[in-house]
Amino acid sequence: MPDDASAPPKNDGRRRPRFDPIPAWAGPSTRLIHGARRPDFNAGAVVPPIYQTSTYHFPSSFSESAERGGTYLYTRNENPTTEVAEELIRRLEGGESARLFASGMGALSAAILSLVRPHDEVVAAGGLYGGTTGLLQELTRFGVAARSLSDDDAHPPEHLLTDSTRLVVIESPTNPLLRVHDLRRWAEEAHRVDALLLVDNTFATPINQNPLALGADLVMHSATKYLGGHSDLLGGALVGSEPLIERIDAHQRLGATPDPFASFLLARSLRTLALRMARHNENGARVADAVAEHPAVARVHYPGWASADEEEVAARQMRGRGGVLSLTLKGGAPAVEQFLRHLTFVHVAASLGGVESLASVPVQSSHVHLDAAARRAVGIDERLVRLSLGIEETDDLVRDLTGALDAVDGASASSPL
Ligand code: PLP
Repeated sequence: MPDDASAPPKNDGRRRPRFDPIPAWAGPSTRLIHGARRPDFNAGAVVPPIYQTSTYHFPSSFSESAERGGTYLYTRNENPTTEVAEELIRRLEGGESARLFASGMGALSAAILSLVRPHDEVVAAGGLYGGTTGLLQELTRFGVAARSLSDDDAHPPEHLLTDSTRLVVIESPTNPLLRVHDLRRWAEEAHRVDALLLVDNTFATPINQNPLALGADLVMHSATKYLGGHSDLLGGALVGSEPLIERIDAHQRLGATPDPFASFLLARSLRTLALRMARHNENGARVADAVAEHPAVARVHYPGWASADEEEVAARQMRGRGGVLSLTLKGGAPAVEQFLRHLTFVHVAASLGGVESLASVPVQSSHVHLDAAARRAVGIDERLVRLSLGIEETDDLVRDLTGALDAVDGASASSPL
């Protein structure tokens, strides 16, 4: 965990109640449970209340402001409930400032549209969520060049950026092939050409990886996934330095403000993030091992498994490997269909990071909007199934998944790829 995560946020000059400091030695669970405490003058509630309001009383004088609020103006800009979740994420990622958004894509579009200008180049370093790739492709309409590097091209990062590169967007592990990129080297490379490095840390979560401590400028999350953790909210987050977040704030989140109730649900879920991630990490590792030699499986995609080099980077920059893995099935699309049909409790659904295990087919879900050539370029085809392992009993998961693999035609014949 980064050392500066315990520091209270800087006061912006308004009379907003500040969050209590927390000792630097407090670990992740302690920070998540006690990291956003501040006095509730109305009732002394232990759990921060939900401020389900769009606007706030406007004081007619400074003395009234001290007594009757006047610290907040309008919920698109700021909301006390949203600040609680922001503070928890900020402390866990170890940044100076954090902002919450209505979704991960809301966070990403606010960051990109606030930080780039015509003639700038944005580089997608390795595989990205399909929606992110689609958004970057749209940028050409605004005179911004977008260049995508495959996971293989992005290894090693040196000499891939140009003088016009202003922003590098990267995921590690990547979606859905779980490739691992060396974030420290990518940060150095981005800074060499005066570009910013934005890391989508959705798959790893701040429990497993802190990109800011590795030199990244901005961390982004789809809080819809592990941070929310229960598949019942949409949210996004950005964490970075004060000046960078202020540049994004200047655009008032471009309208992608979270609803206060979603912020409340997120803050509630964050308190158990460390516990949940411990089980997700365990289930990911155990299931990867259990299915690796199955005759129906051509390949398991799991963080660090692509090469010895990636294993070394993963061991250095991650504390756990997460609960997502993908399988390439030997029998192609028919085998994928049979596998999904024989699952007992694992849901077939898009998304990831919830307490319940999900199986999805990237060509039909996360990467459905990319054309076949773009998918092939990043190594995604119809033989691929992505698994988001929840927090069920590990043995039950192994049983459900290996049982469905056994039901695939020819599962016992070990035909080569
Ligand atoms: N980043 C990653 C890695 C994702 O998997 C997703 C969604 O699947 C997003 C970003 C987009 O987030 P949201 O769905 O919250 O807009």
